[in-house]
Amino acid sequence: MEIAFIRLTSQCNAKCEMCSVWQRKPEFFSIEGIIKLLSSLKEMGINKIIFTGGEPTLYSEFSRLNKYLSDNCIEFGVITNGSVLVNRWNKIFKYIEPKFVVFSLDGADRDYHDRNRKIDNLTNKVIEGINFAVQKDVKVIINTVITKDNFRLIEEFASADFMKYIIEWHWIPVKFVPRLLLSIKQWQELFKSYKKIKKENKKLNIISPFDFIENEIAFTKFAKGNYTSKFYNKHSCYISKNMIFIDNNGDVFRCNACDYNLKKDVYFGNINVKEAKEIINEAKDNILDKPKCAHCDPRNQLFNREEKIYEGWFN
Ligand code: SF4
Ligand code: SF4
Repeated sequence: MEIAFIRLTSQCNAKCEMCSVWQRKPEFFSIEGIIKLLSSLKEMGINKIIFTGGEPTLYSEFSRLNKYLSDNCIEFGVITNGSVLVNRWNKIFKYIEPKFVVFSLDGADRDYHDRNRKIDNLTNKVIEGINFAVQKDVKVIINTVITKDNFRLIEEFASADFMKYIIEWHWIPVKFVPRLLLSIKQWQELFKSYKKIKKENKKLNIISPFDFIENEIAFTKFAKGNYTSKFYNKHSCYISKNMIFIDNNGDVFRCNACDYNLKKDVYFGNINVKEAKEIINEAKDNILDKPKCAHCDPRNQLFNREEKIYEGWFN
């Protein structure tokens, strides 16, 4: 295991309908807490970190954290809504820059994305952030939450100029919000768009729920928000060979899906109660046999293999 996925804070300045994190009490790691954790992780050989939130770039101690990362040669990436990234870049990444930035962007359509995330001018800020990161030679990934409100925007999105810079485009189907689920027909329509985009732009590296399916019968389940259980009826989960997820309250999970319904299978303990090293040693190489997870995130496919295929994230 070499990667830790850490929710630095649950604080966020967006209020996305499909997200529950901003509805949580805003909490964050203390600087002492995160440094202690990173130090334990490094001793265990885990020195590649993905910071998520909430909005990690709002973390008030990021400059001190950044110095620690630099002093200890710890590589990192951030997942961000892009709202304050360019403004804060020089301050929060003063000592070491991220290896990659994952921008949340639900469409190149400004009206849609700004309205959905409830931040004015956000699409422009994300595009500015993408261009800024590319100039700095930092790799860029886009996360797009697919809902019934934006799936028809996907072809236009794929043709946006800035997409030529993207090393991966993650299509993440909406979970837990029935109003936003696509119907079977809408999944069929999106699948056509997906095939068209792949044909027209072979360089676009799309990671999507379509990677899990054997045939279109899967869309019956997709329409109920069940994207991967069919896949995980047959396959095991290897993610603990590659990474671990740590929430800002100290909870340690197998993955970022953090599904409290699956708690007994995906939860390993809390680092405020037990030493992080002890918890992670138990979690390490813990293979979950055919877990039937319904909401596995397509992003986890990057890690959820026996072989390591996540090189693009850090190299
Ligand atoms: S930007 Fe991300 S963390 Fe913030 S509310 Fe939206 S989905 Fe949640
Ligand atoms: S949601 Fe995916 S990565 Fe997480 S435990 Fe289930 S199969 Fe593994």
